[in-house]
Amino acid sequence: MTGLFDSFQRPINYLRISVTDRCNLRCIYCMPEEGVKLMSHEDILTYEEIYAVTKASVGLGISRVRLTGGEPLVRLGLTDLVKMLSSIEGITDLSMTTNGILLAQHARSLREAGLKRVNVSLDTLRSERFRRITRCGELEDVLRGIRVAQEVGLNPVKINVVVMAAVNDDELVDFARRTVNEGWHVRFIEHMPVNGKDNAGTLVPVKEMKRRLSVLGNLEPWKMEAGNGPAKYFRLDGASGTIGFITPVTEHFCYGCNRLRLTADGKLRPCLLSEEEIDLRGALRAGASTEALQELIRKAISSKPERHHLDEGTAKKGRPFSQVGG
Ligand code: SAM
Ligand code: SF4
Repeated sequence: MTGLFDSFQRPINYLRISVTDRCNLRCIYCMPEEGVKLMSHEDILTYEEIYAVTKASVGLGISRVRLTGGEPLVRLGLTDLVKMLSSIEGITDLSMTTNGILLAQHARSLREAGLKRVNVSLDTLRSERFRRITRCGELEDVLRGIRVAQEVGLNPVKINVVVMAAVNDDELVDFARRTVNEGWHVRFIEHMPVNGKDNAGTLVPVKEMKRRLSVLGNLEPWKMEAGNGPAKYFRLDGASGTIGFITPVTEHFCYGCNRLRLTADGKLRPCLLSEEEIDLRGALRAGASTEALQELIRKAISSKPERHHLDEGTAKKGRPFSQVGG
């Protein structure tokens, strides 16, 4: 066998990099209203350090890289980082997850710097509700960001919707219609219990989402080209866009987990939902060679747990998603 494998013989080829713990929104399911305690600037990896970790990872077999956060677009000069990473031979897919607020102004330069595609998180199509869910954002900024991203070719632009009962679950059909009328690629995600808050009362299992969408006709299974993550894709009759479902709670997809996460302060996380971390920043700042970094990366991979236990009612504690790149 060639390539990178963990102790459960899962191939590992995907690195998610949190470039900042800062964010310009305060989504109700992700952050408290007052925000979270921020890392100090010195603790956050520099672009050169992120480049060094990525290059070492690609040398081992990582081929897909995603920038996330916090909100990646609030970090100054992010386009420079994209340019640096896109010069690394061996990366076949360089993408970003963003809340879209600043996307319209950066989409073109990101594309020119080598970014291939974006996922935009958007939980409602109603302005007033958007302000309530994000506590401060303007829906129109995100919609503009999506349009510009599509125009400049950051395709497929995928729209991530965290579905929450009595918050936005009455919009399932509206989002799904956009896959027909506007060719959107929409992914519905089950609400995960994080930051010590549970999801009792807000969880809408994917089975229930599908039942509600059945008013729009048959959902035909579909193979998406970009990405091979945990979503299962479908298409409505006559749609050029797709509907994806992600079931972190009701049906864990750990058996296919192919990822590692790098936190903004330089810790490698074998699993989003476990607090285990391997410190790369210390090694980097002590002058570690590429081989020494690769040794630490291998160590992180070999300690990937078999699965998480959200479906058994265990809420994630520890660092917030905004620090580890949800
Ligand atoms: N700020 C960027 C954004 O919102 O796209 C990137 C970071 S955000 C933490 C990454 C993703 O995590 C978003 O799509 C967000 O909806 C998702 N997320 C955060 N908290 C979640 C939760 N409790 N359950 C499910 N998804 C969550
Ligand atoms: Fe910020 Fe993304 Fe968390 Fe919303 S989900 S608060 S946009 S990091």
